[in-house]
Amino acid sequence: MIQDARKIRLIMELRQQGIADTRVLSAIERVPRELFVSPSFVDQAYENTALPIEEGQTISQPYVVAFMTQALDVKPRSRVLEIGTGSGYQAAVLAQLCRRVFTVERFRSLLRHAEEKFKNARINNIVTRLGDGAQGWPDLAPFDRIIVTAAAPEVPEALKEQLSDNGGVLVIPVGRDSQAQQIVRIVRNGDSYSTEALIPVRFVPLISGVVRENSAAVSQK
Ligand code: SAH
Repeated sequence: MIQDARKIRLIMELRQQGIADTRVLSAIERVPRELFVSPSFVDQAYENTALPIEEGQTISQPYVVAFMTQALDVKPRSRVLEIGTGSGYQAAVLAQLCRRVFTVERFRSLLRHAEEKFKNARINNIVTRLGDGAQGWPDLAPFDRIIVTAAAPEVPEALKEQLSDNGGVLVIPVGRDSQAQQIVRIVRNGDSYSTEALIPVRFVPLISGVVRENSAAVSQK
């Protein structure tokens, strides 16, 4: 009950911050963010802030999730690829908007946790994969929409290549350090890519290679 009131307050705040897409707002309303935060942060699940999750990663700020989802312009028939599953929250929001979401994470522990949460939230249209998301998911390409939730110094070529050449949209934080990142939106038509910088953000870095159980990063074959 208290969480419901907090959720309504968050939705109103997102509206005031300029999130006007009602499909995006109702997707956020439908996803129980309290399932996706760490147990010790449940009380802050509907605060408009990023929160720490396992492995030194973060669940993104609701405003940034809403903004990126709106910028991605997901259609009901879109094939959507997310890089950086993390808590699974962004994937869960996307899953409300289209038939199927594909998501890639480099930490097995985070991926397993996210899968449990999808189950608990009765979300059945997310397909997960352990791997280096900078390589995309070549076997399943092309994707109509690709969203990256970790910052890259440059847009990975593989992701541009795996974008549908008929109005495919890629939304990604780009920048080398946490002070100078921007959300960039790229739209592909044929072999031409139009690029637009949207808002400044702070994301954890996109790191190459999957993480083995002993936590040493290894490059993928
Ligand atoms: N979308 C997530 C945000 C998690 S933070 C959420 O809603 O909670 C970014 C995530 O990207 C982290 O879990 C990190 O492990 C992952 N990541 C970083 N580099 C990656 C890579 N090369 N491939 C796949 N995942 C990556």
